[in-house]
Amino acid sequence: MPDGHAEMAEMIVSMRQPADGPVLPAPPGLCGACRHASVKGTNRGTAYLRCTRASWDDRLVRYPRLPVCDCPGFTSLGREDGTG
Ligand code: SF4
Repeated sequence: MPDGHAEMAEMIVSMRQPADGPVLPAPPGLCGACRHASVKGTNRGTAYLRCTRASWDDRLVRYPRLPVCDCPGFTSLGREDGTG
């Protein structure tokens, strides 16, 4: 079982993205385990990750540079209160 955020993020992203689906251009890091991440595919077979929290949290950018290693808005997929 992975013990770090990055390893957990990779595991979760692999579960969220089908093997034959669109692929992010880089490992997502923390975004891969964050409830605010939205991954969308393009018609070219690639994908991009949008941070939905950036629409109301001015500390964040809508399209973060991947991988994200540290983020004040990170909220794990199992939480709803924004405290990580
Ligand atoms: S809040 Fe941070 S970790 Fe979560 S999706 Fe946005 S940039 Fe990624």
